Amino acid sequence: MNIPFSSVRFLWKIADWVYPPVCAGCGREGFRFCPQCLSEVKVLNGSRCLSCGRPISINQRFCDYCQEVPFLITDLCSWAEFEGPLREAIHHFKYQQDVALGDFFCTFLIAIIEEHKWQFDLVVPVPVSKSRLKSRGYNQSELLSRPIARYFCVNHSTKALKRVRETESQFSLSSKERNRNMEDAFLGFPAKLNNKRVLVVDDIITTGATMNQCAKSLLQAGAKEVYGVSIAKTIRHRN
Ligand SMILES: [Zn+2]
Ligand SMILES: [Zn+2]
Repeated sequence: MNIPFSSVRFLWKIADWVYPPVCAGCGREGFRFCPQCLSEVKVLNGSRCLSCGRPISINQRFCDYCQEVPFLITDLCSWAEFEGPLREAIHHFKYQQDVALGDFFCTFLIAIIEEHKWQFDLVVPVPVSKSRLKSRGYNQSELLSRPIARYFCVNHSTKALKRVRETESQFSLSSKERNRNMEDAFLGFPAKLNNKRVLVVDDIITTGATMNQCAKSLLQAGAKEVYGVSIAKTIRHRN
């Protein structure tokens, strides 16, 4: 679906006037995501394990539990923990056509990308399969990746990386199993990727297996470096 992004903000203003929004976190009227819900978001500060999200020391990439997963991505970061009102809001964003949330969440993603000082020349969303795109009507990650590309004045592409295989639900799988499940799910297109530094955008990162497989396909097709960013990250808390 082609959404006219240039006029999106103006259209939302009209839509908000006709139908005032309700908070995607708690249902309160007059907000897309209310200040109370925003204050409850657990923003992920400091160094985090790229796979499980546990806090680690500054010179590490992985915690002791996650060392075995080979990661191809140069750097990966999420805004906040996937829980509470944010979890609720992402559900609305993904499954209930609450597409205006894309613009709202983008602000936070842009801030963390700037903080990391990543250099990239192409932005791509994590692709969804054709059947999912058809049933949902939109790719939620694209609602984030387009405004990010626009903000940083770099190219955006939905054709550089395609999903070529439908994958099983990852819900009950371990991190290793997820990597296997995502194997060869994506295909990168060399004409669009040669020597490019690519930023991949997703709504949620669970173990990083999806991002990792995206990176693998992008690098195989000639990309030079791959970065990943998402709104939320599932944190595996261990005692
Ligand atoms: Zn709320
Ligand atoms: Zn870990």
